[in-house]
Amino acid sequence: MTTIAEEMRAMPAQIRMPYTLTPGTATGIFLAELSKQRLLGSRHGERIIVPPTEFSSTGEPSEGFVEVAPVGTVRSFTETAIGVIGIVVIDGTESPFVHRIVGFAPGELQVGARVAAVWADEPTGTSVLDLVGFGPEGDASGFAPREPEGELSETIEKIDYTMTLDYQHAYGHYYGTLFDGVKNGRRIRGVKCTECARVLVPPRGRCDVCFAPTGQWVDLPATGTVQASSVVHIEFIGQRVKPPYVYAEIILDGASTRLIHMIGALDPEDAKTAAAPGARVQAVWSDRHTGSLADIEHFEVI
Ligand SMILES: [Zn+2]
Repeated sequence: MTTIAEEMRAMPAQIRMPYTLTPGTATGIFLAELSKQRLLGSRHGERIIVPPTEFSSTGEPSEGFVEVAPVGTVRSFTETAIGVIGIVVIDGTESPFVHRIVGFAPGELQVGARVAAVWADEPTGTSVLDLVGFGPEGDASGFAPREPEGELSETIEKIDYTMTLDYQHAYGHYYGTLFDGVKNGRRIRGVKCTECARVLVPPRGRCDVCFAPTGQWVDLPATGTVQASSVVHIEFIGQRVKPPYVYAEIILDGASTRLIHMIGALDPEDAKTAAAPGARVQAVWSDRHTGSLADIEHFEVI
């Protein structure tokens, strides 16, 4: 008899990746100039490329920056979750500039539409969104590409950036049932192989030794035996606990597979003896009811 977890179908999760972006000279100056409401391209013989690049797609080096009128023509566009993204060809250039298209009423935007720059009210000086996007401008006309007047901005050498990816982790039937039990009854539930009778926790659909399907659900006690342990000293992004702390492979009583969790209430210095293989441990439940094995604060040596 199994129960399908109604509640624990998916977990909202997020991956954050902080890093430093090095835009390079051409893009660094291009971005800095956007905050002055100036659109720059690079000249490569007869061709002008916007945004500017050090080399053209055929390898011709840039002969310098040119200022272009911030008006152009929409060549294609697509609607996305964050709005309309289009390819704009700036007047006097032939390179595609992929950016946001803003300010058009639904159904109004057409391929061939004339557009002009929409500038940010409060530019940051480091973001392409200092140019909010391109909006409707009737039959806008600007000026022919020209030498930029005055001094160009200093290039931006580094931009601190954090890429954030939100996603839903779908638990499926087996993890869903385990996490539902953990959350609502502090039950740790494994599942038994129909062939070799090993008890798998976390539960899964097939035995990882004989590949036979699993069947019967089994409640396991929150006690077990350490199979291996390790003291973590290294700091890394996403860590929940400040090092040093003790991680262990624990085989719950009645289980055939190991569970990896922390051993707390223990001086890491003593882990070598206190949390050595064979040590008996029990789960210490936290106050949280999130429906994950993080609801176990840690295991403690008994
Ligand atoms: Zn098996």
